[in-house]
Amino acid sequence: MFKGFIFDLDGTVYRGDQLIPGADGVIRLLRENRRKIVFLSNNPLQTREDYAEKLTRLGIPTQPDEVINSTLVMTHYLKKNAPHAKLFVVGETPFIEELRRAGFKITDEPKEIEYVVVAFDRTFDYHKLNIAFQAIKKFGAHFVATNPDRTCPVEGGEIPDCAGMIAAIEAVTEKNVEVIVGKPSPIMIQAVLEVLGLIPGDCILIGDRLETDIKMGKDSGIATGIVLTGVTEEEALKKIKHTPNQPDFVFQSITDVENLLIER
Ligand SMILES: [Mg+2]
Repeated sequence: MFKGFIFDLDGTVYRGDQLIPGADGVIRLLRENRRKIVFLSNNPLQTREDYAEKLTRLGIPTQPDEVINSTLVMTHYLKKNAPHAKLFVVGETPFIEELRRAGFKITDEPKEIEYVVVAFDRTFDYHKLNIAFQAIKKFGAHFVATNPDRTCPVEGGEIPDCAGMIAAIEAVTEKNVEVIVGKPSPIMIQAVLEVLGLIPGDCILIGDRLETDIKMGKDSGIATGIVLTGVTEEEALKKIKHTPNQPDFVFQSITDVENLLIER
């Protein structure tokens, strides 16, 4: 019987600004049955408060500490590995502010920079690219990033995500990003397990993307469930049937997660 339920957000709990029908009821039922829940997002554009507010508005009352995004995981990572590091951040203001609040000094002076921290940044430009380049190439700064996503789903399509910023810096510096903390990194799942206070065998991860959500669960020994309300079509699942990449459960939508309370 699973004690902890780890939910991806976009494509799983909601799509854009629309709740997946029945998602509120399932989450309520899981909570009534004393299951622990966290919501996961790779997107560093919004804060945990923003996500909690959105979920609450859509009918799933949520506290910020029930949300884990790549910003939080990056902050944890840096606090653990480089607590006094001076950072240059390729990212948007809320992300930069969160790192500043965590006590990090932010600088754009290449010779002072110890870590270049890269995130989804819609204000990315040549100026930032050059600072990152000088810091990494000339002064040997570390190069880390929040999430590996190529694109981010938005109303009516998708837009370039963090992979674009990482690739630009890799191309000019000839250095590969050293660490990406977001899904499917084990660093993110470690943060999740700490928040839940559970071991992998007690948890199930439910998401809509094979290469991030399901991969992360598989790599960490956590049971996995794919929902068909997001980016993955049934066709793609047929191709990986009977392979190690096959999710443990296939749900038409998050509402089917309810069955886990009955069957297990
Ligand atoms: Mg998703």
